Amino acid sequence: MFYMKHKGNKLPIRDDNVYTKCPECGREHHVDLQEILSTGNADLYSTRVLCRACSERVLVKKEGR
Ligand SMILES: [Zn+2]
Repeated sequence: MFYMKHKGNKLPIRDDNVYTKCPECGREHHVDLQEILSTGNADLYSTRVLCRACSERVLVKKEGR
């Protein structure tokens, strides 16, 4: 188990309390670290995760719909 520390308090990293900001729109959104790290090529410093709305927009663009 990993956890963060803030002023001596342990902050457990769970599947429901990890957030990031979308690099496209800046919206804060929940991420599942386990899912991200299971891709095998992600790291905690440089991996950027789009929010659901931006992901869908990018997918639509790629598929040319
Ligand atoms: Zn977004």
